[in-house]
Amino acid sequence: MRPITLQQLRQAVGGKPLCVLPEDASTVDAVCTDSRMMQKRSVFIALRGERFDAHEHLLQAVNGGAVALVVERVPEGVVVPAEVYVLQVADTYAAMGKLAKFVRLQMKSKVIAVAGSNGKTGTKLLIHAALCGRLRGSISPKSFNNNVGVPLTIFPADPAQDYLVLEVGTNHHGEIAPLAEMSQPDIAVITNAGAEHLEGLDDIRGVRLENAAITQGMGPKGLLIVNGDDAELVAAVSHYQGKRLTFGFGDHNDLFAADVQCDDTGVRFMLNGNREVFVPLLGRHTAANALAAIAVGRRLGLPEEAIFEGLRHATGPDMRLQLKAVHDIHILNDAYNANPNSMRAALETVATLNVGRRRIAVLGDMRELGRSSERYHKEIGELAGSGIVDWLACVGEQSKLMAEAAVASGMSPAAVVHYDTAEQAAADLPNHVQSGDLVLIKASRGIRLEKVAQAIEAFR
Ligand code: ATP
Ligand code: MG
Repeated sequence: MRPITLQQLRQAVGGKPLCVLPEDASTVDAVCTDSRMMQKRSVFIALRGERFDAHEHLLQAVNGGAVALVVERVPEGVVVPAEVYVLQVADTYAAMGKLAKFVRLQMKSKVIAVAGSNGKTGTKLLIHAALCGRLRGSISPKSFNNNVGVPLTIFPADPAQDYLVLEVGTNHHGEIAPLAEMSQPDIAVITNAGAEHLEGLDDIRGVRLENAAITQGMGPKGLLIVNGDDAELVAAVSHYQGKRLTFGFGDHNDLFAADVQCDDTGVRFMLNGNREVFVPLLGRHTAANALAAIAVGRRLGLPEEAIFEGLRHATGPDMRLQLKAVHDIHILNDAYNANPNSMRAALETVATLNVGRRRIAVLGDMRELGRSSERYHKEIGELAGSGIVDWLACVGEQSKLMAEAAVASGMSPAAVVHYDTAEQAAADLPNHVQSGDLVLIKASRGIRLEKVAQAIEAFR
């Protein structure tokens, strides 16, 4: 970030100074929230979570280099050195968002925000791949997409680079709007809206409206790139005054993917029916994510050849549909997380792969689906049982329904097993995996299904 003065800090976050402005006031060059990882001349924002309270570490932050503190309170008995500027605010998370907006507005870079239920990280990586050959930019680490991750991406970004790609996520109503406000996107992508986090977002309509809130941070000169295969999602953003582009598989979209071909090397499709694009990532959904990346590249003025060349060298997210050969078997590791749409995408991907004599799926619970949970677990069981996999292992309480549905839809009961926990699955499954098998592994984060992948790998 560009250095900011303490006056600017106060102006940005508001709040009440608990001391006079130091006379030889220095500037602030960095923002820190972890007192163990401080930087010189930083402002320390004291966050409070369920299991931690950074207000207990104010002096450690000062010793580490903080010249300013943003706090909700100074604990009794703590004496902050006089030369440190202390601002008291009602809510340090909100203060961090305001500071992020201030820092964002000082950037010369184009800010691209990626929202949506599935494929945010994947699309972010494809956008970066499309742009980075000709332009200089950075992306948020991992899935930094909430009220902490987005600011922590904005603060250290080089303000002079050409672009910054942010991931913007949600699990309850009202989360996207402040993220949009602080990131002020020049370009936003909504990848899709599906059943996810329904405990906080009620139903798919709620998911659409919540993601549509990305427009609240966009001016009329922005560009909104939205999945046009979901007409109701397009309707949910119809209020947006700026330019809108749609993408998807249907040929009514501004950018559409035709003749999509998938195999274990990646996805090939014809952009708007006439230009061939190849992306070396698995699964048909990759084509949709790539269309969004192409739209961003065009908007930033890149020639189509440069965009396509970038996409040809793209890499995907960790633990997301990664195909790995382990001696004589293949593991398709998608253990990072799961919801119904990404489960479907993963199973459809298995169907497109031409590796593996026997197809095994190890599928665990999809969490936070609220009252629709049973229905979605049954649906996934039916899909898995419809001939896509030869052997199915279900892990977790809700997944019992998945196992039952797979049998009901025609799978032999001998080819379906259920485990209560990932530990049980990890202990037993390696015995069932045979030479030549392809094994898909996927569940919600909390199930920790990566243990199964590790156990199978260790066993081979
Ligand atoms: P999170 O909210 O956990 O950060 P995300 O939105 O960043 O997730 P990714 O990590 O990009 O999502 O992808 C997660 C999984 O979702 C992928 O492994 C794949 O199975 C599936 N997926 C990716 N893109 C799409 C898409 N466009 N449509 C449906 N499923 C997709
Ligand atoms: Mg992500």
